[in-house]
Amino acid sequence: MSKVAVVTGGTRGIGAAISVALKEAGYSVAANYAGNDEKANAFKEETGIPVYKWDVSDYQSCADGIAKVEADLGPVAILVNNAGITRDAMFHKMTPENWNDVISTNLTGLFNMTHPVWPGMRERGFGRVINISSINGQKGQMGQANYSAAKAGDIGLTKTLAQEGAAKGITVNAICPGYIGTEMVRAVPEKVLNERILPLIPVGRLGEPEEIARCVVFLASDDAGFITGSTISANGGQYFA
Ligand code: NDP
Repeated sequence: MSKVAVVTGGTRGIGAAISVALKEAGYSVAANYAGNDEKANAFKEETGIPVYKWDVSDYQSCADGIAKVEADLGPVAILVNNAGITRDAMFHKMTPENWNDVISTNLTGLFNMTHPVWPGMRERGFGRVINISSINGQKGQMGQANYSAAKAGDIGLTKTLAQEGAAKGITVNAICPGYIGTEMVRAVPEKVLNERILPLIPVGRLGEPEEIARCVVFLASDDAGFITGSTISANGGQYFA
């Protein structure tokens, strides 16, 4: 039977590429999303991947969501914590709401999602947790105090869970993408892209969502069993952590 993989925010952008790549690699995939039913239903129609709506910032919704996926597909072996949001503002203008929204989705969301799958992974002696952090969690970014703090926290959580999970066959790793050509980044005016963003990236182009997805497929595989607690920088040479 195929191993079950859950991808949070798995219906759009990088998460959609991850869901599709895991399906192509033979996993039984459940793609979670927050509220964009139209995108999620189109994704389901196009790929045949089942979609599940819940908010990763709410602990009980995550526990209930995992219980539903496990009833439908079987025990979760792979968890990809990909869902993320931005609420950018310079620190002096950042509201408590901006801060709390980003921390509760991008950091607490990883606790909320990993906690319900962890006991089962420990019992079965196998698990893969792959956290999508960001280059901005490694280097900081003006206007993103909330996002950078959450993404840096994701790396700390990854390293701790790697230590706690190792003896139980669970690996936990983080991927830190740089600029990836998702809808959001491609919507940046061409002049800004060419004059401000591309010059920062030594390889001279944006990354593709599929390039992040291929890292995930590798980390999920049996071949990656000796890799845990790692942070993979996938940023075209923009920053060496
Ligand atoms: P998108 O904005 O394209 O997609 C975000 C996905 O996350 C959507 O499926 C969305 O659901 C879901 N989501 C958002 N909030 C929640 C929530 N509270 N509960 C459940 N699902 C939620 O994101 P990207 O593909 O750009 O980014 C994916 C990840 O990669 C994020 O963690 C991001 O921080 C990280 N990243 C992205 C980079 C980039 O260049 N794009 C660079 C570095 C890191 P819905 O469709 O319902 O809104």
